[in-house]
Amino acid sequence: KKRNPGEAEFHQAVEEVLYSLEPIIEKHPEYKKVGLIERFVEPERVVMFRVPWLDDNGKVQVNRGFRVQFSSAIGPFKGGLRFHPSVTLGIIKFLGFEQILKNSLTSLPIGGGKGGSDFDPKGKSDTEVMKFCQSFMNELYRHIGQDLDVPAGDIGVGAREIGYLFGQYKKIKNQYEAGVLTGKGLTYGGSLARKEATGFGLIYFVREMLAAHGMDYKDKTVIISGSGNVAIYACQKVQEYGAKVIAMSDSSGYIIDEEGINLDTIKQLKEVERKRIKEYVNLHKNAKYFEGQQAIWHIPCDIALPCATQNDINLESAKKLVENGVKAIGEGANMPCTNEALAYFLEHNVLLAPAKAANAGGVATSALEMSQNSMRLHWSFEEVNEKLDQIMVNIFKASKAAAEEYDMPGNYVAGANIAGFLKVADAMMAQGIV
Ligand code: NDP
Repeated sequence: KKRNPGEAEFHQAVEEVLYSLEPIIEKHPEYKKVGLIERFVEPERVVMFRVPWLDDNGKVQVNRGFRVQFSSAIGPFKGGLRFHPSVTLGIIKFLGFEQILKNSLTSLPIGGGKGGSDFDPKGKSDTEVMKFCQSFMNELYRHIGQDLDVPAGDIGVGAREIGYLFGQYKKIKNQYEAGVLTGKGLTYGGSLARKEATGFGLIYFVREMLAAHGMDYKDKTVIISGSGNVAIYACQKVQEYGAKVIAMSDSSGYIIDEEGINLDTIKQLKEVERKRIKEYVNLHKNAKYFEGQQAIWHIPCDIALPCATQNDINLESAKKLVENGVKAIGEGANMPCTNEALAYFLEHNVLLAPAKAANAGGVATSALEMSQNSMRLHWSFEEVNEKLDQIMVNIFKASKAAAEEYDMPGNYVAGANIAGFLKVADAMMAQGIV
C-alpha cells in the first residue's frame, strides 16, 4: 500500500487474490526464491499520456490516457480500454491485474493488460468522440501491436470507439493489422458473437454452477444491474433459459417491471438512441423507475447479476440479498462485490460466480477474433458461440477442481484465483527473473 498510494481498488483486488493464494504459496517455497509474488503484483510497464483534443466549440480539452501492460507471461498483453470520468491509474491497475488471471483461465495464449482514459463519452457529439479517439491513438499506437498488446472495449468503449481507434492506427502505421484491436465491426475483421460474448458467457458459467448444485434458471427471478453491453446480453440469454428478469439499471437509477423486462425496448433505448433507462417507463406503463443505485439489491430475487461497475454490491446490499433468499450471484462486471460482501455471501452459502471466471467469455471471444484475423477467415455465429460455451464449461470445471483440491469445495472465488494463477506462475518460473 505504501508503494502504491491512493490506489484503493488495486489494493482491494490484490488483497482478494493473495488471500486465496496463501495455501499455494505455502506449498511452493521455490516461488519465494525468485520473488515470484513481488513480480506478479508489479506491472511490466505503465504508460500515462496527455490526450488533447478540440471540442465542437473549438475549445481545447485535455484528458489523461493510460495503458498498463501487466503480464506477458503466457501471451501478448490483452485487455480492454475504459473511457469513464472515474478512471484513474488505480482503477486501470486493478483491472489489468485481474485480467492476468482471467485470461489465463480462458486457456488461450493471452497475457494481461488494461487501459483507458478519464474522458466521458456521455453527452459528446460523434465528432468529438472521433477526435478524442484519434488523439488517444496518436500516442497509444507506439505501445500496441498484434504480437505485443491487443486492446478491446470496456465501459464507454463499444463498436463506435473501436472503429475510430482502428481507423487512426491503420492511418499512422500504414498497414492493415487486423489483430491489433478486438471488438471490431463485422465488415473490417470483427468476430460474430463478440458483442454477445461476455453476457452470454456469464449465463453459461452460472448455468454450470447452478447445475452442480442441482438447480437451473427455469422460473427464477433475476435482477441485473447496468444496461450496457454485458447487462443486455446476459438478460437476453437468461430469458432464453426461462428466467424472469424484473429489474435493470443505469448510473442514474433502476426500473422494475414485474411482468419481465422487455429487452427490445432496452436495446432500442441504450444501443440505438443512447438514452437513459428511465425512458423505459414511458413505453411500459406497468413499470416503475427509481433514482439511485443501491436499492436495486433490496428487491427480492433468486439470482443477482451485477453487470455495471466495481463495488456495486456492498456489505449492506449483500445482507439484504441474503435476507431476501438470494441463491446465486453472477459477477458480470469486474469486482462488482466489495471484499466484505464476498465474504458475507460465502459465509451464508450463496453460490458465487466470480468475475475473473464468469465474465471471461468476452476476452475469450476476443482471442477467437484474433485467431480468425490471423487465419484471414470468419467463423459463423454458431461456431463461435459453441466454442464460447465450451470455454465457459471448462473454466467452471477448472475453478471447481482447484477449489476442491485445496479443500474449499464450492468456493469458486478461490478456485478461479488458484486455477488462473498456477499457469501464470509456471510460465514465470520457466522464463527466469524478467
Ligand atoms: P457499458 O459501458 O456498455 O455499460 C456499463 C453500464 O453500467 C451502463 O449501463 C452504465 O450506466 C452502468 N453503470 C452504473 N454505474 C456505473 C458507474 N459508476 N460507472 C460506470 N458505469 C456504470 O460497459 P460494459 O457493459 O462493457 O461493462 C460493464 C462491466 O463489465 C464493467 O465492469 C466491465 O469492466 C465488465 N466487463 C466487460 C466486458 C465486455 O466485453 N464489455 C468483458 C468483461 C468485463 P450509464 O449508461 O448511466 O453510464
